[in-house]
Amino acid sequence: MKITLDPGHGPFGNPGVLPGYYEGTRVYMLAQTLKEELEAYKGTEVVITRKTLDDNPSLANRGGEAAKNGSELFISLHSNAASNPAAHGVSVFRSVKRPDSEKLGRLLGEAVVNVMKKRTDITYLRGVMTRTENYNGTVQDYYGVIRSSVKSDKVKYSYIIEHGFHTNLTECGYMFDDKSLSDIAKTEAEVIAKYFGLEKKDDGKPVGYIEYAVQPGDTLSAIARKYGTTWRELADYNKLENPDLIFTGQIIKIPVYDEINVGDVVKIKDDVNTYFPGGRPFSKWVRDYYYVAAQTGDSKGRPVYRGGDRCVLLGDKINKKSGAHVGSPINSWASVNYVEKVE
Ligand SMILES: [Zn+2]
Repeated sequence: MKITLDPGHGPFGNPGVLPGYYEGTRVYMLAQTLKEELEAYKGTEVVITRKTLDDNPSLANRGGEAAKNGSELFISLHSNAASNPAAHGVSVFRSVKRPDSEKLGRLLGEAVVNVMKKRTDITYLRGVMTRTENYNGTVQDYYGVIRSSVKSDKVKYSYIIEHGFHTNLTECGYMFDDKSLSDIAKTEAEVIAKYFGLEKKDDGKPVGYIEYAVQPGDTLSAIARKYGTTWRELADYNKLENPDLIFTGQIIKIPVYDEINVGDVVKIKDDVNTYFPGGRPFSKWVRDYYYVAAQTGDSKGRPVYRGGDRCVLLGDKINKKSGAHVGSPINSWASVNYVEKVE
């Protein structure tokens, strides 16, 4: 499912009672963490309305982004303000046009309260509310972000969540702590995942690794990109103390997750363009088929190009639609990291 997160305001919007706290910066950070938590579930794609911290799109464009990109869920992230420094608590606003969104709004509000209350003692749910205005005789949502998001029927859930008050010393202190943002993000993602029946991605344990010798000009991020992983994972896996410091010839282990066995039906991963690191580019037609893995091995034997990789011989061609074997086998080697099993 597609989700749009909207961190409110710009970077220095709405200072809090603690020096250095800006609502627009804190909720931007919350959005990044929440995106990561949500995308740990299968089939989720999260769009953030502010592309950078400095971004400050109009209210119409924030909600409009969700309407345009086909999101089912839109959440505008905020911390609240009041002239009375005693004011505190969590508020959730939902669209008046979406009465069915009351339940998820309440679940989110209650979950955020439960996690905040553990450390603030004072946080409570002020309510799951609608706020409306009369426009040319019709009732519409008062908040521009909500109003613009529900212009698309696809946006079935549209909320503003006020994560406590940054004008309250206790709640501002809470929101100023990175651990708090990660706690909130975790709990919000869990509520959303449970409500929509999302399953955690199966990131299991690697079944092995391949060895990559660092080339002149390589960076860890560039190597990670090449193998469909992240510099962070490579740094962790290789226990690199300083990920910025790699040297030519250094061996970086690339974790391999999929165990491919002879007889498995495989396809070429979407982001792979060549048969093998350093191999020739795939012809277009190669992607048009599935293949039966005919043999596996590591590249210390022939006929693959580079030492250390675990490889699979792509054998019989299979028609993607009918599942029928077609023509003669392809008989080319590919890295196991370059293919995936067809379910
Ligand atoms: Zn705000």
